[in-house]
Amino acid sequence: MRRDVYDVVIVGSGAGGGMAAYELTKAGATVLLLEAGGMWDNTKDSDMLVAPWETPRRGGSTPDKPFGEHDACIGGWNVPGEPFTTAPGSRFQWWRARMVGGRTNHWGRISLRFGPDDFQHKSIDGLGDNWPITYDDVKPYYDEVDDLIGIFGSREGMRNHPDGKFLPAPKPRCWEMPIKKAADKHAVTCIPSRLSIITRPHNGRAACHYCGQCNRGCRTNSNFTSTNVLIAPALRTGKLTMRTDAMVREVSVGKDGLADGVIFIDKVRGEEMKVNAKVVVLAASACETARIMLNSKSAKFPQGLGNSSGMVGKYLTDTTGTDVGGFLPALADQPRHNCDGVGGAHLYMPWWLDNKKLDFPRGYHIEIWGGMGMPGYGVGGGMQNYAGGGGYGASLKSDVRKYWGTGVGFSGRGEMIPNEKSFCEIDPRAVDQWGIPVLRFHWEWSDYEYNQVKHMQETFRTLLQEMGAVVRSNMPTKEQGYGIATGGSIIHELGCVRMGSDPKASVLNEHCQTWDCKNVFVADGGPFVSQADKNPTWTILALSMRTSRYIAEQRKGGKL
Ligand SMILES: Cc1cc2nc3c(=O)[nH]c(=O)nc-3n(C[C@H](O)[C@H](O)[C@H](O)COP(=O)(O)OP(=O)(O)OC[C@H]3O[C@@H](n4cnc5c(N)ncnc54)[C@H](O)[C@@H]3O)c2cc1C
Ligand code: SF4
Repeated sequence: MRRDVYDVVIVGSGAGGGMAAYELTKAGATVLLLEAGGMWDNTKDSDMLVAPWETPRRGGSTPDKPFGEHDACIGGWNVPGEPFTTAPGSRFQWWRARMVGGRTNHWGRISLRFGPDDFQHKSIDGLGDNWPITYDDVKPYYDEVDDLIGIFGSREGMRNHPDGKFLPAPKPRCWEMPIKKAADKHAVTCIPSRLSIITRPHNGRAACHYCGQCNRGCRTNSNFTSTNVLIAPALRTGKLTMRTDAMVREVSVGKDGLADGVIFIDKVRGEEMKVNAKVVVLAASACETARIMLNSKSAKFPQGLGNSSGMVGKYLTDTTGTDVGGFLPALADQPRHNCDGVGGAHLYMPWWLDNKKLDFPRGYHIEIWGGMGMPGYGVGGGMQNYAGGGGYGASLKSDVRKYWGTGVGFSGRGEMIPNEKSFCEIDPRAVDQWGIPVLRFHWEWSDYEYNQVKHMQETFRTLLQEMGAVVRSNMPTKEQGYGIATGGSIIHELGCVRMGSDPKASVLNEHCQTWDCKNVFVADGGPFVSQADKNPTWTILALSMRTSRYIAEQRKGGKL
């Protein structure tokens, strides 16, 4: 490690960290990017087009690869040697990728802007908090993210689901048509998806060739990953140094009360190291950034860096979720046809109702699944689950052929209201293998979320019935929480390091700069004040770009 003082050190190379590296190197800063995981490059490491039947596990999952052996992920629900704990009575799951590019290697690429209401929802229904910024503040950055990365979609003119600068969207596939028909019949808005997959050549990258395997990593770079779309051009500037297997423990603070760098563990050598920088950007993902800040205790910041308000770790949220699946007899024995498409649905349903007429606040969107993906381990969810299906040998093969591609389903993804009972803190009794104190999670859903999820279940069952599908499960009861997914399991954890306009009630100002220490910034999902009924990553990218531009301006003006 060189003993230089970098202009900026960035912690984490996922969506937020990658964008910060791209922007800050473009602005001329010398940047060190520290990443806890190892190298991964889609163009070389992806299992694209590998047939599951040619591999020992037929594509099945393992503890290391919870979403299947071909998934482009190192990490997952459990990271060996790096535990977290949950408080008694709380259930929480935390997906952590440990690799360059973070979770952008295997995410769903559903790339939705928040709308005007999403930034100011307290003014509408009195719940939660407003953001200190509005849609108009973020819109120019969303536009630039669209242009830089590439996204497909359709212009719909919906107020709270703003249009972006879209590439053409692919047409619905055969299995998606009955879903569209049922949605139209029940007045559920159903429009082309908005995914960061390029359907035309874009900024030197090749267009998607519709192999449907985005979660394996794209060898032609036709979908978005932080590594190949942001970090690669940042490296080409010559201004970026990237160090992998560097697990950051804390931000260090000088005598002047400003951050002077970070302390990390070199995981290969097991050595503690310090690196010096004039500005620190934390982008290790919302909860991990809170962990680093809480572990950064000093004489000046005895409660942890940026935590004079006591708000670091507070108001942790995740998207609400529940699923209903079934199979569509009308699709059985379908002639083999070209079911090609992107690695995700071609349709989605944004929130379409008025909460004034409902018993829950805020909304949800609907994601759909189905189609004839490459058959692998557990194809179709087990033939014994189909009427007359099951058996062995020739009859099993014939059932698989008959029912392959008949499965369809809906997943709801909704907005949780932040609450005081859902938060993370440092567990005073547990450390990871590097000796770093770990997080303990507290989690509670409220009736707002339970009622919303009940509505999802009822809606999905109505749509499946309309399509003539055989539904595979009974309606979950109130005692079963209406089938609500465990906190954290939708992998949209946000908050913990929220921005605000009051230094006593928030950690960051509107530029994602800590109130307490002017040269420490956050560029991941931590600053989010609320969830919205949208997936978060496009907003993480837009905010990281906005924060990075602010850092560059401040540096130019000699203020940092
Ligand atoms: C299967 C899946 C599907 C998803 N689908 C969607 C979707 O369709 N749309 C959407 O908007 N979002 C989706 N998400 C969520 C999305 O991936 C995240 O919102 C996004 O990646 C968060 O970006 P980030 O930069 O905050 O964190 P990450 O992408 O998680 O990156 C954080 C990086 O920091 C590193 N790091 C962590 N701790 C340290 C440390 N102490 N020191 C150094 N480095 C550290 C990690 O190794 C990681 O590389 C999905 C996620 C998953 C897993
Ligand atoms: S569907 Fe398109 S973007 Fe996705 S992996 Fe295949 S070629 Fe790449």
